[in-house]
Parts: sequence; structure tokens; C-alpha cells
Amino acid sequence: MEQASSADDFLIERIVSGDQDAWRLLIDRYAGRLLAFARARTSSLADAEDLVQEALVGFLQSVGNFDTSRSLETYLFTILRYKLYDLLRQKKVKVITEPPDAEGWWDHISPDTSETPSGLALQAEANRQQEGVLEDILRQLIRELRDRDAFNDLQVIELTFFGGRRNIDIADLLDMDQKAVAGIKYRAIQKLQKFLSQHDTDDLNCMDEANADVTVSRVWREQRLTCLKRSTLGSYLLGVLEEPWRSYTEFHLDVVACPMCVANLADLESEEDDRTPVDTERMFASSAGFLSKPH
Ligand SMILES: [Zn+2]
Repeated sequence: MEQASSADDFLIERIVSGDQDAWRLLIDRYAGRLLAFARARTSSLADAEDLVQEALVGFLQSVGNFDTSRSLETYLFTILRYKLYDLLRQKKVKVITEPPDAEGWWDHISPDTSETPSGLALQAEANRQQEGVLEDILRQLIRELRDRDAFNDLQVIELTFFGGRRNIDIADLLDMDQKAVAGIKYRAIQKLQKFLSQHDTDDLNCMDEANADVTVSRVWREQRLTCLKRSTLGSYLLGVLEEPWRSYTEFHLDVVACPMCVANLADLESEEDDRTPVDTERMFASSAGFLSKPH
């Protein structure tokens, strides 16, 4: 599982304080996968590089407000995707094809962490706590399904919440009947409610009928609950990943078509055969001016 690491927290702390080495490190670590994402969507390498550049600057401009309980990688991809649509609207870049995730996929992930008006701050804090609880019980559910080798169930749940798919599409994608899909979903939601009742917590108002799907989707996507580690993707590329993980990886990449894991895989592939080495030095040079002055 991809999880916010304390290494990332430390890196961000140093970047906020204006540390150039930390900024260079972040670019070295993430520019490749961001460029792979941009490359798959824009018609030229130059456009893709401009886009990553803009996203890096956008990151520096908002990093002071970044909530470190969230995934840094998801945050970077979200800014990048936001910039892509910005430049598209201004007709400054051309897309090759409409990306598969264009519609709605990102809507549930907040595009920035810009400051909330003070009246909303308390509410935001309460929501974050509730989302923390929701994240815990979702992880519990995912773990339980894996421990039981219930990969089919997990696939249905992942397509529902992470993929945002409807029952009819899921039945089609997994070659199942719709009733079976609905049954698996029903049981999963019951289980989530059971886990929730074991938690010592106030009612989750983000889990009321109307918002449950949206909230679960947001948490699942933001925290990347079923995303693949770079090392897993590496093993997959080398063909040494064992079952059932190999099939599960293939499912996440091909059927769910997770835009972030697909970009990571493309980045690893280009590292392997030395295509378009990422010009991290240029990216550093054109963005470092936006770091705050060290103090
Ligand atoms: Zn993923």
C-alpha cells in the first residue's frame, strides 16, 4: 500500500523552510512519474515539460498549506491534472486523446489546500477526523478481503469506490451478473458499518446516505488505499511478481486504469530503456526561485 511516509513529511518541512536540496530531492523523486502522466496526455514533450514545470511551481505556492496526513504523490498528481485542464482551457497545450480519467475521476479529490475561511475551519477539521476513521475501517475491510483471498470481492469494491463505476459496468468488466455485484457491495457496506460500530466515535455525518459514496471515493483515492508500491510495479515489470499479486496488479493498471499507477509504470519503463531522461536540473532551475527564502 502506498502510504504517506514520514520521509515525505520531513522533506516537506524542509521545503517549506526554503531548503534547496530538499526541493531538488523532491524533483528527482517525483518529476519522472509526473512527466510520464503529462506525456500520456499532451501532444509534445515540450508541452509535457511545461506542464510539470507549472505544477511544481503551483506546489511551491501552496506547500505551506499542505496537509501532511494526505499523500504527497496524490497531491502532486492532483495539481498536475489541475494545471493540465487550466492550460487546455487557455488553449496553451494540445491533448492527444481525451484521457480516460478526464471525466469526474478527480472531482472527489480536492484540487488545492488553500486556506479555508475561518468559519469553515472547524468543520474541515471535523471532516478530517471522520475521514481518518473512514480510512481506518476501509483499510480493515481491504485487509480482511485479502487475507481471505477474496480478490473478486475486492475488485468489485475497488471498481465501485476507487474507480467510480456503476454496477452494470462492473458486471461487464468482471464478467459477472449484476445481482452478484450488488450482493458483494451490500455485504461490504454492512461490514463497514460493523467496523464503524466497533469504533469509539461520534456519528460520521460524512457517511450519511447521500454522501457515503462520494466520501468513501475521496478517501480511497486520496489515500491510494489499493495503489501499488513502486517496488511492486518494478517487480511486475521484471516479470517476477507472483500470483495473486501479478493478476491484481494487472487489474489495477488495466481494468481500474488508475492514472497515477499507470504513470508510475510508464516512468519505470522509460527509466529501464533510457527514453527521454527527465531534465530535472532545468526543472529545478526554473522553479527554485519560488521557494521561500531560508530563515
Ligand atoms: Zn493506483
